[in-house]
Amino acid sequence: MSRRVVITGGGSGIGLALARRYIEEGAQVAICDSDMAVVHQVSKNYKMAISFCADVSDSDQMESFHCRILEEFKGVDVMHANAGVGGPAGSVDLIDHKDWKRCVEVNLFGAFHSASWASGVMKKQKTGSIIFTSSTSGLFGVPNRSSYVAAKWGIIGLTKSMAMELGDYGVRVNAICPGAVSGVRMERVLSMESEASGLSKDALRKVYSEGTAMRSFVSEEDVVDMAIFLASEKASMITGQALAVDGYTERTV
Ligand code: NAD
Repeated sequence: MSRRVVITGGGSGIGLALARRYIEEGAQVAICDSDMAVVHQVSKNYKMAISFCADVSDSDQMESFHCRILEEFKGVDVMHANAGVGGPAGSVDLIDHKDWKRCVEVNLFGAFHSASWASGVMKKQKTGSIIFTSSTSGLFGVPNRSSYVAAKWGIIGLTKSMAMELGDYGVRVNAICPGAVSGVRMERVLSMESEASGLSKDALRKVYSEGTAMRSFVSEEDVVDMAIFLASEKASMITGQALAVDGYTERTV
């Protein structure tokens, strides 16, 4: 039987790169994304078993997604809770509280929601791998990005707690912490941080790459390679870990 893989935020960026790799490897892939246009595009262009429009922070929408998965897949082998947004940039005294809360709802509650459901299914199966996309922002402090950083640190706490709850059931839980990933999203983040800090986008880009031992951004494929390994039998003794794919961050902004 081919592996049954669920990816949230699978409509673009890292999530789509992951979905494409799993499909190449013969898995059945279900993605959800909150952007209806990308869901349509993905269902037209790729052999997804399920492409579903749902917001990870909305319990009712996610319940419908989960019901559809169980109807078609009857179980889940890999849950990759990947959906995330950059959230607002600004100092903690000035930041809009609604924007702060929304960022945590999507990045942390959204990840919890998918993982919570998958853990129930996997406990019964007595096997499965849950992977979160955290960030190097979940390993360091970053000025002016407190909501994103708090959510991504929260994911690591969730990873370690869930790993301890689920080890007895043969279910592993890990988090990947990508550094700055080349692509459209990082360009958006750089624009936002440039506005909040007064530094130019190019100066910030340099700070990010020069702040790593490898003096480089990472690619989506670097993150996908780690995810595929963590979901495989080769990683059968790896759980409760936050694994950075970042060229080793030496300092942040
Ligand atoms: P992206 O914006 O290219 O893709 C994210 C996808 O998630 C989009 O298709 C978007 O529509 C979807 N999405 C956003 N909010 C959603 C919601 N509420 N419900 C469902 N889907 C939603 O970004 P990406 O770079 O591929 O990011 C994927 C993950 O990687 C995120 O969790 C992000 O925080 C994390 N990450 C990214 C970087 C980076 O540099 N790009 C670095 C570290 C961590």
